[in-house]
Amino acid sequence: GLIGSDKVRAVVGLGKSGVSCAKFLAEKGIDFVIVDSRENPPGLDEVKTFCDNTRIFTGSLEPLLRLGVTELYVSPGVPLSTPVLKTLADQGVAMRGDIDLFAEYVDVPFIAITGSNAKSTVTTLVEYLLKSVGKRAQAGGNLGLPALDVLSHEADYYVLELSSFQLETTHALKADVACMLNVSEDHMDRYDDLYSYQRAKQRIYRGCKSAVCNKQDILTAPLLAQDTPVRAFTTGSPDLKEFGLLPDDQGVWLSKGVKPLYHSSEIALQGVHNYANVLAALSILDLLGIDIEAPAIAQALYEFKGLPHRCETVSVVNDVTYINDSKGTNVGATLAALSGLGSLKNKNIILIAGGIGKDADFSPLSVPIDKFVKQVVLFGKDATNISKVVSNSVKCEFVEGLDSAVSMAHDVSQQGDIVLFSPACASFDMYKGFEERGEHFVELVEAL
Ligand code: ADP
Repeated sequence: GLIGSDKVRAVVGLGKSGVSCAKFLAEKGIDFVIVDSRENPPGLDEVKTFCDNTRIFTGSLEPLLRLGVTELYVSPGVPLSTPVLKTLADQGVAMRGDIDLFAEYVDVPFIAITGSNAKSTVTTLVEYLLKSVGKRAQAGGNLGLPALDVLSHEADYYVLELSSFQLETTHALKADVACMLNVSEDHMDRYDDLYSYQRAKQRIYRGCKSAVCNKQDILTAPLLAQDTPVRAFTTGSPDLKEFGLLPDDQGVWLSKGVKPLYHSSEIALQGVHNYANVLAALSILDLLGIDIEAPAIAQALYEFKGLPHRCETVSVVNDVTYINDSKGTNVGATLAALSGLGSLKNKNIILIAGGIGKDADFSPLSVPIDKFVKQVVLFGKDATNISKVVSNSVKCEFVEGLDSAVSMAHDVSQQGDIVLFSPACASFDMYKGFEERGEHFVELVEAL
């Protein structure tokens, strides 16, 4: 008979993670149905190859109400506030997700990383550093491979990037190292307020064996039993067991307590926000008992340049530097880009921004724009909302699209300027995603 046939399970919402859930359950011989509100959801053809047609319901979530379901695997794209799901939750139906399933089956030590920004950078860096010291590491989750597909890779460590949506449906994660990098407003179209968003992110720490948090961001602080090891990182000077920065004439030392480890001139990632990312990665490795001063780590930090679309220098045209930060999809990311690149002396940034604001409060951008930006060029759905926080002393123009934005930036730029494309918004009003948007920017710059 079927395993656990007393439970009636449903995968809710296809797409990458839904398909991976369905496939995983099928391989385990566990019975389930699939329900999606869309008539023709992505991944439908794939699941039909291993799931009987009579067990797939598309076009509405209503079938869930009459199937007697007891346990749902809800895709991160489907809000738990969807009326059908709320009704079922009130009836005691378990709202789980692929990460909860991952946690139930994983038998390899794993690291879980969340935050409003820098998740992908830190996840990829941790995987890279682990590999550099000869460990087999496999990253996935919110980036690359879905978590349940990660399970079929042999490794010494798994490294999972997790979003707040994935964490909402995760009940017992039990990570070997759980890390929350930062919390700033994002996805306010799906959360009532910053604190409900933070509460979702805090679930990363559930049952963890050790934790990493950001000393400068109180919202990341874990509440754990006293004997659970915790490492904090800071871009200020570190206390004894913390990771932080110690400045010298040529830059800063990335340090553990009073011990300098790496000088900023010895690592490829640049900008204070990126030093924070390296410190977070080192904190994680330290908790795993890995020698963070090994020559292989030094070499890896010297090499790791970060990911495309994250404050990536595209080219220098007539002594004007064009930077693609298309992954800057929220206010916090654009803040980091402005403070990382801004110079008080010059006020030399031309900022291109706009897209879907997800109900964000753009006002934190007001001061850094005033300090560092000579002109703002806006496009997309929420351009007007952004313009409201730009003070009268900074020139602000609206354009139809990215092509006119780049040519306007090109026209007004002078030697020594920086053209920064950091939208502070999601891309779905005009693009399939941040990659397509960033690639478009790169194309336009290369054509100048
Ligand atoms: P995520 O996976 O959380 O979206 P990424 O590593 O892809 O994170 O970076 C997303 C955005 O955040 C980019 O615009 C990047 O430049 C910016 N960023 C990188 N590190 C930080 C940081 N420490 N604090 C704030 N923003 C950051």
